[in-house]
Amino acid sequence: MKYDADNVFAKILRGEIPCRKVYEDDCALSFYDIHPKAKVHVLVISKGLFRDYADFIGHSTDDEIADFARAIIRTAEALNLTAPGYRVVLNTGRNSGQEVPHLHAHILGGESLANRL
Ligand code: AMP
Repeated sequence: MKYDADNVFAKILRGEIPCRKVYEDDCALSFYDIHPKAKVHVLVISKGLFRDYADFIGHSTDDEIADFARAIIRTAEALNLTAPGYRVVLNTGRNSGQEVPHLHAHILGGESLANRL
């Protein structure tokens, strides 16, 4: 399947749609989710054009994978979530419920998620 350059995160990366930015580096951009599912809900999207996590791991270098993993940690640090903790979710493929076909990690925190899947 081909990458769809019309998806909403591609538009955010091109500056065509605004976002509430939390963190940015050479490989990733992080911003608040418009429909938060926890008190703090932030998305970390890759600057590389990948459809999902499987596409990313299959078509990127070890350095790119490490950079994206680090961007997730840096975003959590920027949100002061390191000490209280947080959850990272990476939806991939049809059964995951992934809506936006551009690689992204959800960071969920700001409250206890212990009794929520
Ligand atoms: P997923 O189901 O993993 O594809 O998650 C996509 C997420 O993107 C959902 O949680 C949406 O609420 C969020 N979302 C969609 N459009 C925007 C937008 N323009 N700005 C911020 N978050 C968005």
